[in-house]
Amino acid sequence: MYTRLSELAKGKNFPLTNGLLRMPRLVMKFGGTSVANVERIRNVARHVKREVEAGYDVAVVVSAMAGKTNELVGWVKEANSLYDAKEYDVVVASGEQVTSGLLAIALQEMGVNARSWQGWQIPIVTSDAHGTARIVEIDGSGILESFEKKKEVAVVSGFQGVHQETRRITTLGRGGSDTSAVALAAAIGAERCDIYTDVDGVYTTDPRIVPKAQRLDKVSYEEMLEMASLGAKVLQVRSVELAMMHRVPTYVRSSFDDPADPKLGTLICDEEDIMEQQVVTGIAYSRDEAQITLRNVADKPGVAASIFVPLADANINVDMIIQVVSDDTTTTDITFTVPSAEYERACAVLNAHKSEIEFRDLQGATDVVKVSAIGVGMRSHAGVAARAFKALADKGINIRAITTSEIKFSVLIDSAYTELAVRTLHSLYGLDKA
Ligand code: ASP
Ligand code: MG
Repeated sequence: MYTRLSELAKGKNFPLTNGLLRMPRLVMKFGGTSVANVERIRNVARHVKREVEAGYDVAVVVSAMAGKTNELVGWVKEANSLYDAKEYDVVVASGEQVTSGLLAIALQEMGVNARSWQGWQIPIVTSDAHGTARIVEIDGSGILESFEKKKEVAVVSGFQGVHQETRRITTLGRGGSDTSAVALAAAIGAERCDIYTDVDGVYTTDPRIVPKAQRLDKVSYEEMLEMASLGAKVLQVRSVELAMMHRVPTYVRSSFDDPADPKLGTLICDEEDIMEQQVVTGIAYSRDEAQITLRNVADKPGVAASIFVPLADANINVDMIIQVVSDDTTTTDITFTVPSAEYERACAVLNAHKSEIEFRDLQGATDVVKVSAIGVGMRSHAGVAARAFKALADKGINIRAITTSEIKFSVLIDSAYTELAVRTLHSLYGLDKA
């Protein structure tokens, strides 16, 4: 019997078979740098042991050792650049299998009862979109039974699952172990999910660009979702969606802390649980953008559809869109952005539809960056974006496109100005560390 993820409520109780009081449950997730070698895996085991001794039933989700997945992907591409996605998943899912076994061994060696679980053994059931599969359901009962009957830590391979009908191994897309961890936390009714990584939390912006960036104690699900979607690399976007949907309190914290003296890091939680809200919580940037401008497109009904329908059919996501009237008033210019990885494909699709769209010129730029400010406080404050436009203009930064929504705004600028723009906005909204 499967427990549907969507049916899970926070802290839902599972039937007890022996009448004993159930221990609180915890999911701990460790990323690639945290398990990069056997010594670090031992350090992870110490963190796990601490939580077991504190009275938790623990499920640990692990990534592949740092660099492993890239190496595996490289081998697949070397074997055939037009590879079969099902076999790609067989190969790349293997990195996590290695780490789960090694961590179980390291725990056993410290006297902690533990076993490894592969995605198909639980099972973590996914769609059949090989390489980018989505979790459909997780049966948490096997793990709960091993907690109850054997007091056994479950060491789970992240990133991987299985498609129910075909029984083939699937993977969740790069960075997918975060998603495995949050989904598992929801499925077993864990009190929270701790994501251990090589940084000690979520920052107001990238500290490599702004040394005055500050670690946030708390950030809301909504804001974290925007930050991750708009370029902050700390968590896979899907994992934040799941945390938000199932209300799983999630910490981002460092595995390099002394296991005997751990720090909590940043809590991703409900907006209501955050006392002091800033108007702007963080500044994100993404270099994975490309701009396309179609010049002198006929200004008549149906043009937008003639451009964006073929792009959608080709599965290309369009983000920012602006349309301006050209000098001659019978034609218009349309500018929009696509992911830079899709830039060439997008140009090919547009050129193939040139006669229907009737544009004169296609101009593109890939040396652009999208800089965004995020904060739930924008809902209740007017003029937040306007201040940014002024501050950027004062620095001589030209804005190519703008988008806004309830809790964020983004500007597209020349990538040469990335650092300057991020720093300018970071200080403008009072986020600099004193
Ligand atoms: N090992 C996988 C990757 O590198 C999954 C993960 O680490 O989250 O993308
Ligand atoms: Mg990651």
